[in-house]
Amino acid sequence: MTGSRSTLGQVWAALRSVSNDLTRLVWPGRCAACEQPLAAEETLFCASCEPEQQPALPGEPPPGVDAVLSLFAYQGPVRTALHKWKYHRRTAIGRALCEALAEALDAAGPRLFIGEFLSPSPLAVVPVPTHVERLRERGFDHTWALGKAVLRPLREQGVEAIWRPEALTRARATENLPGLDAQERKAALAGAFSCQSKRSLEQVRVLLIDDVLTSGATASECAHTLKSHGVSWVAVLSLAHTPATKAPPRQKAASP
Ligand SMILES: [Zn+2]
Repeated sequence: MTGSRSTLGQVWAALRSVSNDLTRLVWPGRCAACEQPLAAEETLFCASCEPEQQPALPGEPPPGVDAVLSLFAYQGPVRTALHKWKYHRRTAIGRALCEALAEALDAAGPRLFIGEFLSPSPLAVVPVPTHVERLRERGFDHTWALGKAVLRPLREQGVEAIWRPEALTRARATENLPGLDAQERKAALAGAFSCQSKRSLEQVRVLLIDDVLTSGATASECAHTLKSHGVSWVAVLSLAHTPATKAPPRQKAASP
């Protein structure tokens, strides 16, 4: 799998390198973190906020997940911008983050569509669901917005991307699990998701969309739920990931 690993690495590099492109169009002139005016060459973040280090790579896909891609390391200004969107309803910053993800897919281009991505069958885009109580508090659904944003770039590259947000629902409010270790998170998330889809998921491929990939327990539980309903392959695309691991991204052996 060395070939697919290096290709996925190239894709990731492309995602990383274009993270600032064109976000100016939807977030003109202000840093998404500190909100100071941007200089002409700056886009999503100002020079002070732009992370000096390249983001860490997400490591092995979580159990049950076949491939993982992520745009930013979840730290510093990225964390600040995401918090402003999620917890302070800063919708312009949210639009800029969604656009950054979409532009990253645009720039990755055909290199993204390796292995299972080459399959001619439709690719269902499924946002990690937010519990109804969280939705009520927050007033909007951030993973829904991120998922909607990636449909266009996928379709423009010839992928039959279909919007299937109903494929997963969150039965319990498990979004915030502070202070739990990996095992405790896994236990807390067991059975947290259900599949209410009336349309069949047999042999469907899924691109799961999340805002932040942390321990991977949420993505793993979503993948197990989807696969128990017949889904053949699950990839995760996240806006950001906690920079805990340094291993290169890997794609597991393609499923039959
Ligand atoms: Zn700034």
